[in-house]
Amino acid sequence: MKQQDGRMPHCADCTIEQTICRYEDGKGPVSCPTLNLSDVIERSLTEYQQGGNLRFAANASIQEAECYVNGEKDNPHVRYAIKPRIQETVEFAHKMGYRRLGLAFCAGLRDEAKIVSDILKQQGFEVASVICKVGRTPKEFLGLTDGQKITPGEFEAMCSPVTQAKVLNSAGTEFNILLGLCVGHDSLMMRFSEALCTVLVVKDRVTGHNPLAAIQLHQSYYKKLNEEKFNQGGKVRVRVEGQE
Ligand code: SF4
Repeated sequence: MKQQDGRMPHCADCTIEQTICRYEDGKGPVSCPTLNLSDVIERSLTEYQQGGNLRFAANASIQEAECYVNGEKDNPHVRYAIKPRIQETVEFAHKMGYRRLGLAFCAGLRDEAKIVSDILKQQGFEVASVICKVGRTPKEFLGLTDGQKITPGEFEAMCSPVTQAKVLNSAGTEFNILLGLCVGHDSLMMRFSEALCTVLVVKDRVTGHNPLAAIQLHQSYYKKLNEEKFNQGGKVRVRVEGQE
């Protein structure tokens, strides 16, 4: 549903120093959701009372705090981060009491998937892992033409995030970890997973899977992010059985 005028949040554009979302006597701009959307905020908070969300969120916040140490005895505001995300993930999963984890990974990161799977096992979990190509379903199933494949003229198995999710669902995983899934494939994996998901690694082919590298270089090597209009593609025509 389209957001009504004046209620569209623009936190990314907020330049307030002492923000109302963090300080009781803070301020917010006219588009501030903390000031304008108290109804939405109130309704969202009731969701924490449903289905274990409160415990999940509380453990996530406890884990967040445990990823820092206070750097100076006299100044509690000086903190140092001490845990990489893989450790954060392991510790959070233990806090939740999970025994069986799912690992949904990209074929391009098979080696890393093996390393992560071994680490998780070493940390005391059972691990069900599933590759994106599971099922060897041809890309033609999606209505793609030969020219829309990575290598035209050859058989290409599609990435099937829905199948990945269903395979992990059938394995009874309690928490699923995404490793290197493509944009959009990750979305479907999360939609169809019965267990809640976390992302350990995002796919970014040219930055060693570190999208921030391009973002942080947006004024130098990746100037094109601001200066070029990327392929706006338009709608892809997909053949649907029985329809023109
Ligand atoms: S919630 Fe309001 S004050 Fe906080 S960042 Fe967003 S616009 Fe700024």
